Amino acid sequence: MDFANALSEIERAVSSAQVLTSADLRATYEIDWSRRWKGNASAVVRPANTDELSAVLAVCNRFKIACVPQGGRTGLVGGGVPLDGEVVISVQRLGSISTSEIDSGIVTVGAGVTLGEVQATAARSGWDFGVDIASRESATIGGMIATNAGGMKVIRHGQMRAQVASLEVVLADGSVLKGGGASLKDNAGFDLSQLMIGSEGTLGIVTEARLKLVRQMPSSVVFLVGVDNLAAGVKLVGTLRRATESLESAEFIDAASMDVVCEFLSSTPPIQRSRWYVLMECAADADPLRGVNEALTRSGLDDDSDTAVAMESTSQRNLWQYREQITDAISCLGIPHKLDVGIPLARLDEFADQVVKVVQTTSPGVTVLLFGHLGEGNVHVNILGADPDDESVDDAVLQLVAQIGGNIASEHGVGRAKARWLDLSRTATEIRTMREIKQALDPHNILNPGVLFPSHVSGVR
Ligand SMILES: Cc1cc2nc3c(=O)[nH]c(=O)nc-3n(C[C@H](O)[C@H](O)[C@H](O)COP(=O)(O)OP(=O)(O)OC[C@H]3O[C@@H](n4cnc5c(N)ncnc54)[C@H](O)[C@@H]3O)c2cc1C
Repeated sequence: MDFANALSEIERAVSSAQVLTSADLRATYEIDWSRRWKGNASAVVRPANTDELSAVLAVCNRFKIACVPQGGRTGLVGGGVPLDGEVVISVQRLGSISTSEIDSGIVTVGAGVTLGEVQATAARSGWDFGVDIASRESATIGGMIATNAGGMKVIRHGQMRAQVASLEVVLADGSVLKGGGASLKDNAGFDLSQLMIGSEGTLGIVTEARLKLVRQMPSSVVFLVGVDNLAAGVKLVGTLRRATESLESAEFIDAASMDVVCEFLSSTPPIQRSRWYVLMECAADADPLRGVNEALTRSGLDDDSDTAVAMESTSQRNLWQYREQITDAISCLGIPHKLDVGIPLARLDEFADQVVKVVQTTSPGVTVLLFGHLGEGNVHVNILGADPDDESVDDAVLQLVAQIGGNIASEHGVGRAKARWLDLSRTATEIRTMREIKQALDPHNILNPGVLFPSHVSGVR
């Protein structure tokens, strides 16, 4: 009865057309891109603006109704999926874009705007956006802020955290928090916008963001090289970083991932077969090749037979698809376990060797695929062939990551997938402090319960 009353109030706030309760209308919102995370929502609510979202959360808070904030459902850790009958709050209709501060290099967008739309807006105004990820056409700015998304340009521009000037966020009780003013520097107390970034929808729902743009670089070069081991790849990136400031991306692909993506693209590797492939992009005002050639020569990797170089956009896109299409290629083969982990660069090679052994000992016969962002030691460990509900492989990988001094969530976040392992990456004091912040901002634990906090430690569930 309480829920029915709450729903009527929510319908009055957003109109009944934007409260989806029938199973067929809810279905799209109950599963994520990976298909590993699927649940049931008691309703899906689609507010059109901050006032509506604020009214919805005030009702949910009063009736203590659990909510899952949701953007484009491309998050890969089960954070945006209603697994326990929660109400989904979709931000997809928050689609405003304002260029009124464009001369300051700022664009203001609603949380439901996709990354692709931000990139197009920036390009039309002579700017670029500092974060790029392969899910750009579906991932929303709200979801990217909530997960502090990383991607292909982190080595040059940092993660989402570095692109945010300020945020508007609706808190659990419906009050609206506007971080910062219009000025570009602001040291008046806590930076609450930054606190929200990476909080995975547990502290508030992002409704609007003022985003910083970066300079467009007119000349770029993309190149792919083969290396025998990841230590050689790390050395190459280090050499390149010393030779030029134009390095924008440094990605790695193992032979198994290259095979899978080639099959998906009905293609062959663009260079001779190798144990590892390193894909890099440099972008500059002019002649990005100069520093690159110097670095390749110094690294002993200037042999044409081992290097594919692309100067034109079509051939650059062609080389990039060997990296960007891996996730789709793997998904065509089954539902993988996806573990996004951060490894100290000095131990990347050791991890790559050990993780395959550890997984195959835990779950014989599975396929392990490794690729990721080389600049930050961010490895996407994908395991095909293990039962989606069998967490023993996840446990084996994450324990190894901890032993080797890495972290369990390099860029996708913790979500529901890794909540029980949070203490491998955070101390008891850190988890207690995070829990206290959560309790202060969301005392009834209505925002994304089950996400981020391990239930045995948090006490908020
Ligand atoms: C092919 C592919 C490639 C990818 N590559 C990368 C990559 O290189 N780097 C990377 O970092 N990620 C990558 N991802 C993961 C994913 O795209 C990012 O995590 C993205 O930021 C999620 O955005 P979303 O709108 O889909 O969020 P969702 O999946 O809908 O939600 C993700 C989390 O954010 C919360 N949330 C969503 N919107 C809001 C909001 N407005 N306010 C508060 N909380 C909210 C949800 O509750 C959930 O916890 C990739 C995914 C795919 C499918």
